[in-house]
Amino acid sequence: MPGDNSLTNWAGNIAFAAARVHRPDSIGELRKIVSASRKVRALGTGHCFNHIADTPEDLVAVGGLPDVIEIDTAAGTASVSAGLRYAEVAEQLHRAGFALPNLASLPHISIAGACATGTHGSGDRNGGLATAVSALRFVTADGDLAQLSRRDDPERFPGAVVNLGALGIVTNVTLDLVPAFDVAQYVYLGLGLERLAAEFATVSGAAYSVSVFTKWAGGEGAVWLKQHLGSGTTAAHRAEGNAGSGPAESQWLGARLATTQQHPIPQMPAGFCTQQGGIPGPWHERLPHFRPEFTPSAGEELQTEFLLPREQAAAAIGALLALGDRIAPVLQVSEIRTVAADDLWLSPAYGRDSVAFHFTWVKDAEAVTPVIGAIEEALLPLGARPHWGKVFTMQPARVVQRYERAEDFRRLMDEFDPVGKFRNAYVEDLFPTA
Ligand SMILES: Cc1cc2nc3c(=O)[nH]c(=O)nc-3n(C[C@H](O)[C@H](O)[C@H](O)COP(=O)(O)OP(=O)(O)OC[C@H]3O[C@@H](n4cnc5c(N)ncnc54)[C@H](O)[C@@H]3O)c2cc1C
Repeated sequence: MPGDNSLTNWAGNIAFAAARVHRPDSIGELRKIVSASRKVRALGTGHCFNHIADTPEDLVAVGGLPDVIEIDTAAGTASVSAGLRYAEVAEQLHRAGFALPNLASLPHISIAGACATGTHGSGDRNGGLATAVSALRFVTADGDLAQLSRRDDPERFPGAVVNLGALGIVTNVTLDLVPAFDVAQYVYLGLGLERLAAEFATVSGAAYSVSVFTKWAGGEGAVWLKQHLGSGTTAAHRAEGNAGSGPAESQWLGARLATTQQHPIPQMPAGFCTQQGGIPGPWHERLPHFRPEFTPSAGEELQTEFLLPREQAAAAIGALLALGDRIAPVLQVSEIRTVAADDLWLSPAYGRDSVAFHFTWVKDAEAVTPVIGAIEEALLPLGARPHWGKVFTMQPARVVQRYERAEDFRRLMDEFDPVGKFRNAYVEDLFPTA
């Protein structure tokens, strides 16, 4: 809708500066918009908390492009429209007997937007969501269509998936699928954080996907365990999925099994959350924390997250406990997850098995920003990389230094977008034009 400049992100903390907002309903229209524009960015579902999606000129919301979900059962892949939300795709994959290996906490986010920022779920052996992508189609700066795949372009492909929206507008992604599987979700309350630090690998390896929620002050957390129950096809698959022992004991590592449904933020309605209590259910109804039919909150929050080498988990927990009195007053809840190493150049888990420390803040940037600064001072020496889509204060040059393939990514941008059409201020700050 050209002229619509009242658009904000989901959280409402960013009012997009775009002079024009477009909602093309065909690839042909999208190509015309891109070739006619001077500066352009794609907008997915707007769930980022910083200016990564912003542009002063043309913003293209991709959600109106035709919905395509083509499942190749023989190849075990799905070719899907990039602007679709995970919830929309998951339902159809499941009906066809397939699954994605992992999902983020919220299924309402777009596939291209999530992959562009390195969005992840949890699990010692689960890569970020972008690791399920095996091919991409996108509109380049001159309005042409380009395609890259892991098989046909193994050199450049790992640079193109976590792309910060800077290579072009992705129209279609091919996702590698696994057989559909069931998950049982259990919550344990009252895990001591010092015990978590001491036995981190035991906790994070106790299920297919593990999250620890804490407020830091108080020294305790709740552990959400998502046990992979297998696809029901082979015992081998079942064994592969279950990374640890079953957690149905009423006490575990000094924590107690919750007997009622929980929300990550204790005072919030737990009915918004996916079924717990060990009741088996399909992967897409258990891996996210929030149910697709509910909006988890009205955007009354800000978020920050840092990914560190996993061996730094205990040191980072200690550092954050020491900051607990500063963090707690501006925090709604914090979540600790693990992410497997990958080879995607700008992935925050590039080259290292990672532990991720997430913070859902109150929506008060003035109060929260100095606390984020203090956390960065504590975690940067431990190798922290910030989540691309969340709030961070560290200098862009320091962020880029943390990525070995950053210069290769710059070359990829120059190749697909020599005039810098897709580079906004966020990208320019990271990769200044020489
Ligand atoms: C409530 C909530 C829960 C969250 N949970 C998690 C979580 O569990 N794990 C996690 O890692 N993150 C999480 N996030 C962060 C979120 O996953 C990321 O911010 C993600 O980028 C959101 O996708 P989006 O489509 O909304 O992206 P947008 O904000 O719309 O865009 C993000 C970037 O992707 C680019 N982009 C979007 N679509 C395209 C396209 N078609 N082609 C090229 N570039 C494109 C944009 O230009 C922009 O640079 C959460 C966010 C919220 C609000």
